[in-house]
Amino acid sequence: ARAYDQYQKRTSSSEAMADELREIVPAGVCSTFRAYEPYPVHARRAEGTSIIDVDGNEYLDFALNNGTQLVGHTHQKLSAAVKEQIDDGTLYTRPSDLLEFAAQPLIDRWEAIEQVRFTNSGTESVMHAMRLARAATGREKIIRMEGAYHGAHDPALVSKMPPVDRAGAAADPTPVRESQGIPESVPENILLGQYNDADSVERLLRAHEGEVAGILVEPACFNLGVVEPENCFLQRLRELADEFNAVLIFDEVKTGVKLSPGGGAEYYGIQPDLVALAKAIGGGYPVGAFGGRRELMSQIAADLNEGVATGAAHYGTYNGNPLSLRAVGVTLREILTDDAYDRVAELADRLAAGYRDVIDDAGLEGHVVTAGSQGMVYFTDERIRTFRDWEHVDEEFHEAYWFGMLNRGVIPHPHDASQQWTISVQHTADDIEVHVDAFADLATHLS
Ligand code: PLP
Repeated sequence: ARAYDQYQKRTSSSEAMADELREIVPAGVCSTFRAYEPYPVHARRAEGTSIIDVDGNEYLDFALNNGTQLVGHTHQKLSAAVKEQIDDGTLYTRPSDLLEFAAQPLIDRWEAIEQVRFTNSGTESVMHAMRLARAATGREKIIRMEGAYHGAHDPALVSKMPPVDRAGAAADPTPVRESQGIPESVPENILLGQYNDADSVERLLRAHEGEVAGILVEPACFNLGVVEPENCFLQRLRELADEFNAVLIFDEVKTGVKLSPGGGAEYYGIQPDLVALAKAIGGGYPVGAFGGRRELMSQIAADLNEGVATGAAHYGTYNGNPLSLRAVGVTLREILTDDAYDRVAELADRLAAGYRDVIDDAGLEGHVVTAGSQGMVYFTDERIRTFRDWEHVDEEFHEAYWFGMLNRGVIPHPHDASQQWTISVQHTADDIEVHVDAFADLATHLS
């Protein structure tokens, strides 16, 4: 309550704006995830590693738009290139050399990507990867992990983070449609495994032999903070996909180009058949992509057969628009260099070490998990390995921590214990120190 009071004192313009916006925009936001109590910080502008709110408060930003901006805000090189592109046209709906400029770095970074198509969001990328897996196998069912987020399309909202009292047994989860308006038939084609439990996936493949088109998984589960694969989980999924002729789809919307240049596939050394991308590849511009092996991706081109849909459809007015392609090419070729990854990794270690010291010194219960540029603090000593471990996380305590950090001028990660921080190429050692000092100051009030 104290954290809320302090927050409300500093953010009266955000509160007033929230009241006004709620009248004309549902919940006052354009993605329901952004709405939280008592009201969100309303932004005036962003620059470098900072967000300035409508009350004039400046926050050091480690949320970076759900991890989208590994390049930080307003990166000069990127802004200059995009401004130049605005003068050369923002939309062509026809191919140009920008397509190669953006596609090639993705092909270079992922062994699994031989061909790639651009979309406008992670939701679209995952949706098309799922369709392509179905088209390629002639099967309909997709195995996904309970408690993972894969976008806002219907099948992705089946058991993304279901209330545990409605989710059934861990070994045989009940599919939960987490939105009104999703047809009852949608879960018929979704099978639920558990992250980090390859046996759960194997059981499904055996029980539904010949019916499973694909296995959809985030290489690291980023809807539960930072949960890494253990006990050769990804390798077993690779083997199972091969054995059962299913398409292994990595949803690298969050992990892509952030865990390593070549995403979770490179970081964990397992190559999928299809990769869904978005977020960090575009440095803050709206773009997604999906790619994979040529024989799979060529199923899309098959659609061109005299107007008869023999392959998987993929259309979109804004797909591969020149602004986004320019942003992808500049981000991947010129900003996210090997040096940049080294610097970010060094800062990520420093932040994690700082958190660990503060937790020890203050005698807090908690631990930190990091992977590449990403990390998260959990205020529990229990390891989170899978969705069913989420009950160990004290979300109320985490909320007090999050607002406490905000009151000290640091946005540690997106609002919600299920998220993670991102270190950008523009953060400095001083920024890390400010973050850790804020946590140290807060910790004395939390313990
Ligand atoms: N997949 C994952 C793993 C995500 O985290 C998200 C968004 O957070 C999506 C898909 C959907 O991406 P978008 O919000 O760009 O539609």
